[in-house]
Amino acid sequence: ARIHDTTANATAAFGRCLTAASLMGNMQKVENGSMTMQIKGGGPIGGITCVSDSVGNVRGYVLEPHVPLLEKYPGKLDVGATVGVSGTMTIIRDLQMKEPYIGSIELLTGEIGDDVTAYYVQSEQIPTACALGVLVDRDQSVKVAGGYLIQLLPGAPDEIIDKLEAGIKRAGAVTPMLEAGMTPEEILGQVCGDLGVLFMGTQEVSYKCYCSRERVEAALISLGRKELTEIMAEGKTFPVECQFCDTIYSFTPEDIRELLENL
Ligand code: ZN
Repeated sequence: ARIHDTTANATAAFGRCLTAASLMGNMQKVENGSMTMQIKGGGPIGGITCVSDSVGNVRGYVLEPHVPLLEKYPGKLDVGATVGVSGTMTIIRDLQMKEPYIGSIELLTGEIGDDVTAYYVQSEQIPTACALGVLVDRDQSVKVAGGYLIQLLPGAPDEIIDKLEAGIKRAGAVTPMLEAGMTPEEILGQVCGDLGVLFMGTQEVSYKCYCSRERVEAALISLGRKELTEIMAEGKTFPVECQFCDTIYSFTPEDIRELLENL
């Protein structure tokens, strides 16, 4: 919210996507792999792009951060209406192989959690439950945000499935649990009930951008000689803004000339 100056509706939609991307990216377990989630739903936010690294650090941007207030009822932000439902969710997995894996589904509700669930069922044939929540405070900051993603292993017995479904229903929405101060461990405990949970590891994650001056230089070089020469000829400092973290990299005509020499 701070980096992209998002309004409450955009914050809620973007926060849910970033949370889902973090969970999904962390599950890939491929060193240097990454996962990109692209959502285009026809709603006022325009589009959402989130990228996770292989442990779950995320970055992203939305096309229109200043979405006007849309509520389902007073006090409840309407994320589905923010994102829209006439469009797609596309997941691009870079598994460090020749070609990335790309899967796409039609958006179900635009509420993101439902759409992630539908993605796994339709595109990867994995029964999944995903709940996400972002609570935006009165001052537009994020009070709490989080979620869970549960998947069945092949051959899971019906008894387990029934217990999980009942637990998900019993636990309810994730935002009230977060607001009550419950930890991720406690939330999973609530959902899984007497099935019990064995915690095998924890991972710190954050909003993390991998941009650098070197990467921006490489992107400028890829524009080609003609375009770079035109930029240099304007004789002004050329700013390049990272769309993920809004860092501005400035290039003087002299900097551009050096890039041209190295072409
Ligand atoms: Zn950046």
